[in-house]
Amino acid sequence: MFSTLRFRITILYVVSFGITLLAFSAVLYFVNARNQADDFDKFLYNRAQAIARSISINVQGEIEINQALIAESGKLFPFQFGNEYIEIRSPEGKSIARSKNLGKNSLPMDASINALVQSGNYAFVTIPAAGQLHYFWSEGDLRMVSVPLFAGGRLQIILQLGVSTRALDQSLSRLRNSLFLIGVPLTLLLAGVGGWWLAGRAFDPINRIIVAAQKLGAERLDARLPMPEADDELGRLSKTLNEMLDRLESAFKSQERFIADASHELKTPITVLKGELEVLKSQPRSNEEYKAFVESALEELGRLTQIIENLLMLARADSGRPLKLRGDVRLDEVVLGVVGRLQSFATQSQVKLAMTIADDLPADSLGVRGDPDLLAGLFFNLIHNAIKYSAAGQAVEIRLESGPCVIVRDHGTGISAEDLDHIFERFHRAESPSRSEVKGTGLGLAIAKWIADAHGASISVISRPAEGSTFTVQFSSRP
Ligand code: ADP
Repeated sequence: MFSTLRFRITILYVVSFGITLLAFSAVLYFVNARNQADDFDKFLYNRAQAIARSISINVQGEIEINQALIAESGKLFPFQFGNEYIEIRSPEGKSIARSKNLGKNSLPMDASINALVQSGNYAFVTIPAAGQLHYFWSEGDLRMVSVPLFAGGRLQIILQLGVSTRALDQSLSRLRNSLFLIGVPLTLLLAGVGGWWLAGRAFDPINRIIVAAQKLGAERLDARLPMPEADDELGRLSKTLNEMLDRLESAFKSQERFIADASHELKTPITVLKGELEVLKSQPRSNEEYKAFVESALEELGRLTQIIENLLMLARADSGRPLKLRGDVRLDEVVLGVVGRLQSFATQSQVKLAMTIADDLPADSLGVRGDPDLLAGLFFNLIHNAIKYSAAGQAVEIRLESGPCVIVRDHGTGISAEDLDHIFERFHRAESPSRSEVKGTGLGLAIAKWIADAHGASISVISRPAEGSTFTVQFSSRP
């Protein structure tokens, strides 16, 4: 479970959500604490005002405090606060009077408070409980305001009011607890459960694809993955996998077909050889008969060698390794070489070979980047076919034109429309009684096409039965 993407996504979700939630809660808490502290000071200030109003100084300079007003003003406070401590000082800072609960204690007064008050300001200070040896107030810190009271433009008395911040601290600690001990963990727990469920739902279709894909194997290449209805990422994933399966299936099938065809092709000459050997063995033979057999055996062996060479060439094509086309090859030289090699075969078949080069063609425009042996193989196959499928007395024309392109035209049997679509496939041989005596493997054009592709050239054919065929190899001009 812990290694699943679902788990990891849930954890990531909870962590990122948790960080956001913590940041949000912290901001919420600090803003709230700040507001409460401000409110606290505001009420402290109001309370000091009320107490100040209840104080009067008579002509003898005695201080009188209106107790009723003080009691009433207590309502101004929003909290049930504990004791409030009041101290009244002379402008010099000497204690004049103090609330009973202070006993012998005195509210603190130092130079900084004094300086503020003397200049007519209110001085707020917090006196922490911790570190005070004998603190007289009940619990928590003490928040104290010192207020200067003026009469006739002169500072008359300093009023100090101190209140324990316990109520405020408690309220903040409640807020802290409910936010960080309950709110955040509970929300994260819910987010985790929700995230797990959501991730599960999101991964459900993927799991279905995994289960379906597990059922597919090399033996069951025709099966396909179910396509989800929505055209989303998962739909595209299924589609892509199915397309990959299509390609795999066709690659497997053509491989199978290739092996079957290759075996068949290899078997034919061997069967012929074997049959001839058996006939030969059945009774004593004359020298002429042995000679005739050796000739026929050599021919069959030649055929076998050609098939094997072609198969090796196609295996090289199938390996997918790109060819290293380093050399600069002159097409006219290559074609001329091939024509020379095929001359005796043409003479044997009584076919005339004619090679022409377009008039206005500069010699250097016939250069291509490629492999001279492979290109010779390509033209050999085309010209050899043209001779093979021509009748005695016909001509095969080979022409080099700008592009550069090489055209091989014959006036022989031609190719039927339905064969035309397949002649570049491996082992495809047109079925025609008139041609059954023409020997071939059905691999020549497949190899020619591969060589053309590897050179970035296109190979096309125009053909009509009984009229002849024209094969054109078009190279892309060099940059
Ligand atoms: P093959 O060894 O049979 O000639 P190829 O791959 O060279 O194999 O050619 C495939 C098929 O295409 C041939 O069997 C033949 O039917 C047809 N073909 C190829 N070239 C010609 C041509 N010049 N004229 C007529 N048919 C041709």
